[in-house]
Amino acid sequence: MKLLSAVVPCYNEEENVADFYREFIKNEGFFKEKEIELELWYIDDGSGDNTAGEVKKLAEADRRVHFLSFSRNFGKEAAIYAGLQKARGDYVVFLDADLQDPPSLLPEMYGYLEQGYDSVATRRVSRKGEPPIRSLFARMFYRLMKKISRTEIMDGARDYRLMTRKVVDAILAMPEYNRFSKGIFGWVGFGTKWLEFENIERKKGETKWSFWKLFLYSLDGITAFSTAPLAFAAFMGVLFCLAAFGLIIVTIVRKAIFGDPTSGWPSLVCIISLISGVQLFCLGIVGQYLAKTYMEVKRRPIYLVKEEI
Ligand code: UDP
Ligand code: MG
Repeated sequence: MKLLSAVVPCYNEEENVADFYREFIKNEGFFKEKEIELELWYIDDGSGDNTAGEVKKLAEADRRVHFLSFSRNFGKEAAIYAGLQKARGDYVVFLDADLQDPPSLLPEMYGYLEQGYDSVATRRVSRKGEPPIRSLFARMFYRLMKKISRTEIMDGARDYRLMTRKVVDAILAMPEYNRFSKGIFGWVGFGTKWLEFENIERKKGETKWSFWKLFLYSLDGITAFSTAPLAFAAFMGVLFCLAAFGLIIVTIVRKAIFGDPTSGWPSLVCIISLISGVQLFCLGIVGQYLAKTYMEVKRRPIYLVKEEI
């Protein structure tokens, strides 16, 4: 018998835990025929509601249900990593607790593993039901990443992914602190089949990602998988040096021909503010990388366990 582990990160998902279990377990028959057992890991990412209680009820009734809770909210990335460490399966799949990643897609996904793929990923083709401003920024992010990163990061990719032990071990070998899974999946490579589905709206509860949280997450993604912003800072430096040389020559020539002293303090103020703005911006870019490096060298644990069943 082989084993398939499902990892479900939960942050205040008390209404969804049981619904998810019911949907997921519908695949039981299919996998039994393939001689595959199921196990389910709910990772409670420091929920403040009764998520833990709901999972424990399920775990009492069904021994295949496991539970791991964090000492506080460490973020979805930490939950994914913890799930990967805990999962013992020959295959591992991540799903959101809110049923936005339909478990009914699993048999089809498994079919591709049988065909020889190592990883089956999903992406949504539409962003129906999402605030337009969020979609706009998401599109911009993916377009930018395509340009500045050599790691493949698919637009609309979800974290809903089924993979073989080979891929799981490859990801576990990346114990970095600043985790950006969409990039990590692309970075490890392996044959990946992409399945597309229409966006499904969350049935119960609310999204845990505010616009601001997503924005910061996108910065994590950029610093983790591209150093292009640093090159941009250097490029700005060269550009402004060249402009300064040009201006020096213009000033000298003008003085020689027209005897006109450098005129006007307003232009000077503009130049000074522009250049200090660019300088601070570039310093900020360097600061971002420094901050990430700082967090990385501290080697703090990615999560802390409160309870495990
Ligand atoms: N999640 C988590 N920790 C967090 C935020 C979210 O474990 O800090 C989980 C959440 O419970 C859900 C999944 O990550 O299972 C996706 O979150 P959500 O549905 O809120 O995001 P969206 O689908 O709106 O992008
Ligand atoms: Mg969701």
